[in-house]
Amino acid sequence: MAAIKSWLSRRKKEGQYRRLMPISRVDPGFIKLKHDKHASPLLDFSSNDYLGLSIHPEVISKSRLFLEKYGAGAGAARLMSGDLFIFHELEDKIAGLKGKEAALLFGSGFLANSGIIPALVGRKDVIFSDRLNHASIYDGCRLAGADLQRFRHNDLDHLEELLKKKRGKNQALIVVESLYSMDGDFCPLVELTFLKEKYNCLLMVDEAHATGLFGRNGGGLIQENDVTGQVDIAIGTFGKALGSYGAYAAASRQMVNYLVNRARSFIFSTALPPAVIGASLAAVDLIQKQPELRRELWDKVKIFKDELSRAGFDNSGFSQIIPLAVGDSDKAVSLAAALREQGIFATAVRPPTVPPGTARLRFSITSHLSAANLIKSGKIICGQVQHQLF
Ligand SMILES: *Cc1c(COP(=O)(O)O)cnc(C)c1O
Repeated sequence: MAAIKSWLSRRKKEGQYRRLMPISRVDPGFIKLKHDKHASPLLDFSSNDYLGLSIHPEVISKSRLFLEKYGAGAGAARLMSGDLFIFHELEDKIAGLKGKEAALLFGSGFLANSGIIPALVGRKDVIFSDRLNHASIYDGCRLAGADLQRFRHNDLDHLEELLKKKRGKNQALIVVESLYSMDGDFCPLVELTFLKEKYNCLLMVDEAHATGLFGRNGGGLIQENDVTGQVDIAIGTFGKALGSYGAYAAASRQMVNYLVNRARSFIFSTALPPAVIGASLAAVDLIQKQPELRRELWDKVKIFKDELSRAGFDNSGFSQIIPLAVGDSDKAVSLAAALREQGIFATAVRPPTVPPGTARLRFSITSHLSAANLIKSGKIICGQVQHQLF
């Protein structure tokens, strides 16, 4: 107990103590902090429900239908008696969306990454991983026990240097995200597939923040960059742009059969609840049939970015995730607090989540936010940042 107590107080002293903040959702795009009874609602710039699908009427009604038809829980793991045919219906739809032969559902993106990587590589093998990859990817790497080589973020020269030195003769896996959640920047996928072929590696791409938003029919950045055939496993979550919960891996039929037999987080975990499958099925249908959902979001992203560039803030990126560089951690925290005072909820991202000295405010744009509110908050944000930084 003493060790736990001292760990917690050290965290607090270092300003890195995390705490929960219960909220309620008021109107779409607004949250209200529960502890603050009189506070007015805040505009939510930290949601991943990019297309607003979590409250789309078709998503809700299909979820309700499946709840009533199939019950609240699946009752067992898929390999026991939990393998309802609706899971296969969603897997077929995902395979179609991602342009792969087959797909396999996982309980969450965290479970997918932490289960799939150790299924693919082991102690005699090597993993090449982008330094900014998500924690679940790192936990998968650790569980695999393979030689872990981290390359500088999006630096393919560094990756090739490591491949030359460390590729070895056994299995090698390259793992990246297609859109990075802290910087809002893209992986150079086309160039990466050349390296993957040249050094004969498996390639796994996590499309958590890209599925539903990029590509002709929402198939993600592997579709937009036309590299689907070179990607061995595409991971994605239903918890972000798809507005629901759970995750998938899209791959060849053989790879999926292999994962059914080897991925422990698939084998030893209860199948997803039917209501969640209903929501995900409706969401996948919507992103395929309604490209206007994406267009509407990109219009809003542009409105917000225009507001920032008018005030002279560099925003060369092109995604729905917009970081505003602050540098100093304490400044980032006090800026976030000042914005909350003015009705804007955005996250201060600090080390160790990002490299030292690169603390930032992170804005994620969702369809829930109206054009008028985006313009208004853009102005407030620029004013606050200029006031505090210059
Ligand atoms: C959010 C995220 C995950 C985790 O997905 P969940 O379904 O929320 O568990 C995995 N990888 C990346 C890159 C993510 O951004």
